[in-house]
Amino acid sequence: MDVNTIRFSVFLGVFLIMLLLERLVPRHPLVDSKPRRLAINLAITGLDILAVRLAFGAAAVGAAQFAQEKGWGLLNYWDLPAWFEFLLALVFLDLMIYIQHVVVHMVPFFWRFHVVHHSDLDLDVSSGLRFHPVEILGSMLYKAGLVLLLGPAPLAAMTFEAVLNGMSQFTHSNIRLPAPLDNALRWAFVTPDMHRIHHSVEARETNSNFGFNLSIWDRLLGTYIHDAAKPQPEIVIGVEFFRKPGDVSFLNLMTMPFRDNITQAYTNSPRSRRG
Ligand SMILES: [Zn+2]
Ligand SMILES: [Zn+2]
Repeated sequence: MDVNTIRFSVFLGVFLIMLLLERLVPRHPLVDSKPRRLAINLAITGLDILAVRLAFGAAAVGAAQFAQEKGWGLLNYWDLPAWFEFLLALVFLDLMIYIQHVVVHMVPFFWRFHVVHHSDLDLDVSSGLRFHPVEILGSMLYKAGLVLLLGPAPLAAMTFEAVLNGMSQFTHSNIRLPAPLDNALRWAFVTPDMHRIHHSVEARETNSNFGFNLSIWDRLLGTYIHDAAKPQPEIVIGVEFFRKPGDVSFLNLMTMPFRDNITQAYTNSPRSRRG
């Protein structure tokens, strides 16, 4: 099986399992139409895949192959056991994705694009795929750059991509985990309840729980919040500037980063918002 087949199989498997669990054990009541949101988020995903394919192919894995051939990257200089290099690459890339997430919240220019992800009025498995194509291209370049710097084995880069994709679907899904399981998982990993707090309209909560895979970065760097001010099912999801389903139509989402008539939504990035 080639890289793309493996990636697509993992994606589809996780997507369908989460969709089923969302029906069986929903966590949060819906405010927007689910079929409508699924259509929008999947249309954005289609566009993202197209954009990435056209521009780079599998950039991170390609960069890892390139780095290996040329002997580039720190790991190609050090003589560490392969299993340790593999783990180190996964943990390092996860930390760098955490840092990227903090930066796109803090810098108003980047927030213009990231707000598309946060504007979803409900969270479900498809929200994990809802990123503006420009943000997707930017983070592909960022990851490829990191891979060239680090020089992990192509298998490690591929594993990281697959894990990141699968975890993004899991952490955005609208599922209720038993509290003891959620608490136990949260010591090391991001859970749906933990990430839902990040999607709250409350600034203090948006500026917390930035992790994608491991929860340790939020815990170590002081951005971890265990509970939102409201109980989980009552958390208001989204951003305060786009409250109506009509505000977040497919077309509005695509043009959202470039509009000037709603600059309030951009200049008031969550970090500078009061609260
Ligand atoms: Zn965010
Ligand atoms: Zn999110």
